[in-house]
Amino acid sequence: MMEKILVDREKRYNTILELIEKYDLPVVCGKINYPGKNKNTKEGQKLFLGLMQSLKIKFHSYAEFSQVLGGYDGSSILIVVKMDPLEAKYIGVDIEENHCLGRLFDIDVYSRDGSSIGREKINKDARRCILCNDDARVCIKTNRHSLEEIIERINRLIAKY
Ligand SMILES: [Zn+2]
Repeated sequence: MMEKILVDREKRYNTILELIEKYDLPVVCGKINYPGKNKNTKEGQKLFLGLMQSLKIKFHSYAEFSQVLGGYDGSSILIVVKMDPLEAKYIGVDIEENHCLGRLFDIDVYSRDGSSIGREKINKDARRCILCNDDARVCIKTNRHSLEEIIERINRLIAKY
């Protein structure tokens, strides 16, 4: 299962590179931060619909092309945007920080050289953990929270939505 997730991640990245080459424009990639091996739960799907709706509204006037991908790593949406990649990243981070489910969204922007733009490029801090508000990377690295704990918090956030 883990292997299939990794294969689908690689496929997604290759599709992003193909789109960049075809359009010569940056690509926004939206997906859900859902832990565990099963990325295609009912909650995950509900989150993805909320994410797609938000991205479509915010990037509507810049979108040249969009495509939804499925697979073992969960659904993702790719949007080719006719805009400055830093501006696109700014909009993405704004959704992550202000949408009521934004903490569960993962919005990456790939510039035309194929690299993803880090938050530091637009002077934004690292993402916060949904449970303890610490730097999320530290919690992931140290396995600070149990999977059950995380999923319970996520499902509570979704139920409120
Ligand atoms: Zn934490």
